[in-house]
Amino acid sequence: MSSQSRPRTQLLPTTDLSCSFCACGLTEKLLALQAYPSTSRTVPEGIPDHGGLTLCPECAPEVVELVDTWEGHDHPDIAADQSIGDGYRNMTESCSFCAGACGDAVVGIELYRRVSDQLPAYANYTLCDGCQDVFGEFLTNVRATIE
Ligand SMILES: [Zn+2]
Ligand SMILES: [Zn+2]
Repeated sequence: MSSQSRPRTQLLPTTDLSCSFCACGLTEKLLALQAYPSTSRTVPEGIPDHGGLTLCPECAPEVVELVDTWEGHDHPDIAADQSIGDGYRNMTESCSFCAGACGDAVVGIELYRRVSDQLPAYANYTLCDGCQDVFGEFLTNVRATIE
C-alpha cells in the first residue's frame, strides 16, 4: 500500500442522483464510472447513454469485484482535437480486462470510488471490443437480478 493516507478528493459525476440499477436515492455513492467510447464505438450495454453509471452500496459489490480484476493505467492525455475515448485508445495497446490488443474500438472507463477496500479511489481502464460486450452483458445481468 502507498503511504498516501489522505484520500484524493474526486468529484463524482453528478448526472445521476439515484442509483443507476435500483433507482434508490443516493445518499452515498459507492461506485461511479464514466464510459468514453472511441469514435467507432458506443457506450456498452447496461450503461446509460450519457455514459455515467452510479451505484449504491447494495448494487456496487458485484461490479467492484469484476473491475478489481482489471489492470488500470494512468490517466490518458486527451488532445484538444480528439474525443476522450480516442485519448484512451492512444494511451494503451492492451485491454484492461483480457490483456489482448485493443485495436481502435475501445471504451475508456473512468472510475471513481469511495475510498475503502480493494479498488483505488480513482482509476482508468480501457476495454477492447469483445470485453465491452462482456462487460455490458455482465452489467445487464447484475441489474436484472436487482430489479
Ligand atoms: Zn442500487
Ligand atoms: Zn479485452
